[in-house]
Amino acid sequence: MALARCNNHPVKMQTKYQYHHADAKVLVGYPEVKVVICGRKGCLRPSDLIWLNTYEAADYAKGQRVFSTRVTDKSGGYAPTGAKVEVQ
Ligand SMILES: [Zn+2]
Repeated sequence: MALARCNNHPVKMQTKYQYHHADAKVLVGYPEVKVVICGRKGCLRPSDLIWLNTYEAADYAKGQRVFSTRVTDKSGGYAPTGAKVEVQ
């Protein structure tokens, strides 16, 4: 799943799903519209980038622009739901 992050919290490489900075896309409407909050635990800054994993990046290359995000709950664990976001 895609990850929403502010510019202070870029995604680090993960073993299961690879995230690369080149595949981090800007939200539609940003910076005027700041409706998605950084997914890092404790951070309340607006997300400027949606980080796509390698599978989502392949979909982006085919023209897909709407992705589902993965979010953490207050304890820092992954919540069962996220939000769909549109990227440029
Ligand atoms: Zn953040």
